[in-house]
Amino acid sequence: RAKAEFDTRICYYEREMDEHARQRRAMAHDLWVALEKDAFDLVYQVQKSVSTGEVTGYEVLLRWDRPGHGLVSPTDFIPLAEETGSIGPIGAWVLKTACLEAASWPEPYKIAVNVSGLQLAQLELVDLVRMVLFQSGLEPERLELEVTETAIIADKKRALYVLRQIKAMGVSIAIDDFGTGYSSLDTLRSFPFDKIKLDRSFMVEVETNEQSKAIIRAILALGRSLSVPVLAEGVETHAQLDVLRDEGCNEAQGFLLGRPGNIDWADLLDPPLSA
Ligand code: C2E
Ligand code: MG
Ligand code: MG
Ligand code: MG
Repeated sequence: RAKAEFDTRICYYEREMDEHARQRRAMAHDLWVALEKDAFDLVYQVQKSVSTGEVTGYEVLLRWDRPGHGLVSPTDFIPLAEETGSIGPIGAWVLKTACLEAASWPEPYKIAVNVSGLQLAQLELVDLVRMVLFQSGLEPERLELEVTETAIIADKKRALYVLRQIKAMGVSIAIDDFGTGYSSLDTLRSFPFDKIKLDRSFMVEVETNEQSKAIIRAILALGRSLSVPVLAEGVETHAQLDVLRDEGCNEAQGFLLGRPGNIDWADLLDPPLSA
């Protein structure tokens, strides 16, 4: 009896696995179709100076409205795209589209584009960035690439070589989700980053947990001594922003300052008189 029950369970497990694999294959396929049909979208999330409230730039975030499924989070489809080979063309689409759009903006704000670890491991990224800047006419100083530590650690030598080539073009490099990786300090030592993006997880407890606050303070001190500005991600409350202001954080990004979306130029260019 135990044997029969065991077999049934294995069978059930295998069916579950099959179903899971089938769904992933379907999603991977739909990603290629979306590329072909130009069905991705970009949204922009504002980044602001903590001390003055001025706009310092916009992070570019990819959106995919999957037919029959609705919006799929990039945290779900980016890893799949990385596993199934579409991240190269998807990343190229993001970079090209973001630069073309930003080049036509009425104000020369900076854009920050996320780059996958797989792209970073490929020398083609250097040519892609050069070509996209040339085709769009976007000044290199207006482009920033966001990379994560895990991306760099995968093939450190290659990644740093690629980053150096890109930085030499005048493009800046930010380290994303800082503080969550395994060797943050080592990563900082190996490359002159232009910005540290403090991971959102530190913001969550900043009002209630002295530990979180102490860590934020330490990272801000680190940024100051390395002369690298720090941007805090995931700022949702005024209390969090107050802490950041008290501690001398340079920039902030989060729902409190603006949700990812389309930029309302009318609003930006004609601020209400009361503002
Ligand atoms: P990320 O680069 O750390 O981007 C920030 C994420 O936090 C975005 O999620 C943004 O919508 C979200 N966020 C911003 N402010 C707040 C806040 O105040 N509270 C909370 N709870 N969340 C906030 P999104 O757009 O879902 O992107 C998730 C991740 O997917 C990104 O994390 C990035 O790693 C990746 N991703 C997004 N677009 C691209 C892309 O074009 N290429 C690549 N390779 N990865 C991308
Ligand atoms: Mg990012
Ligand atoms: Mg981040
Ligand atoms: Mg993140």
